[in-house]
Amino acid sequence: MSVLDFIREDLRGLKPYSSARLEAGQAAVMLNANESPYAADAAQPLNRYPDPQPPKLLAALAALWGVSPAQVFVGRGSDEAIDLLMRGYCQAGRDAVLITPPTFGMYRVAATLQGARIVEAPLVAARDFALDVEAVLARLAADPAIKLVFLCSPNNPTGGVISRIDLERILAATAGRALVVVDEAYGDYVDQPLALPLLGQVPHLAVLKTLSKAHGLAAARVGALLGDPALIGFVRKLMAPYPVPAPVEAAALAALAEAPALLPARIAEARSERARLAEALARMPGVARVWPSQANFVCFRVADAPRTHRALLAAGVLVRDVSAQPNLAGGLRVSVGTPAENSRFLSALSIVLSAPQEAA
Ligand SMILES: *Cc1c(COP(=O)(O)O)cnc(C)c1O
Repeated sequence: MSVLDFIREDLRGLKPYSSARLEAGQAAVMLNANESPYAADAAQPLNRYPDPQPPKLLAALAALWGVSPAQVFVGRGSDEAIDLLMRGYCQAGRDAVLITPPTFGMYRVAATLQGARIVEAPLVAARDFALDVEAVLARLAADPAIKLVFLCSPNNPTGGVISRIDLERILAATAGRALVVVDEAYGDYVDQPLALPLLGQVPHLAVLKTLSKAHGLAAARVGALLGDPALIGFVRKLMAPYPVPAPVEAAALAALAEAPALLPARIAEARSERARLAEALARMPGVARVWPSQANFVCFRVADAPRTHRALLAAGVLVRDVSAQPNLAGGLRVSVGTPAENSRFLSALSIVLSAPQEAA
């Protein structure tokens, strides 16, 4: 059984675009790619096409996450990997994806762009937005067209995690028929690793990772899909010809080289600031609910989220209004900033929530 058994039928024989850089490597005289022989900036030459999957970057990411380079696709943020999975696994008008709202909005956007039907198994609001594993299993049993299952842990925007037992039940139910994609964009902040340790044992499991959050490289756009080498080889057939610009690779390698010295303290600070935010919010009059989070944000409920959002903005503090998401009326999401930023947010919020309501 292979993770390629249930890719789109019409893509089975796909021959990928063969770029000049892929066909032939380097030579003393490079005349195969219609590039200019002159660099605009000789100190930082950019006149040659980059390697589509730069080996040094693949090696650094593989080392970071404890996998082999053949298990890593690197692209323009994990958003690109989400899009490529939709395209590779869902035939428009026929196949479906399962999502667990309220959750990260890109799954729905990418599925809709591809013409994939969306099947929902909502998180359980009454249990801190825990995964409804029975609902997931029931949808899978009822709907053979489901080819992708997106699980977000910690979940954006609610912050909760999935248990290993629930993940294993879903993996058992999807073997041979669907790919389970665990989005671990916030995996750096959790108490217990979830899906990464299972990679290599389960071919139909894939993990999304990104350098946009804990690694501080959101503007560089570096995300990865980790999975079975067969899956990674397939996704590389679907990718844009050169998804990793050379300056982006350089920025990522520089940040990854510094990460061991910097990241542990930053993550520890984010976790303790998260606890401080959650405790202060829980004590604050006007905050009805604070959901437990293992990410670098905290989701909480107020009486009127759009009004509170506007008033915070007027006070110079921007948070995310997530109140339009299913079962999240009154919901706001605050990212963990520096200790000073978090304090500023808390004092602004307490002033906003104690002010009399503006006239309707
Ligand atoms: C931020 C985020 C991502 C995003 O990543 P990029 O790598 O910046 O595209 C993916 N998944 C979730 C759940 C996120 O919150």
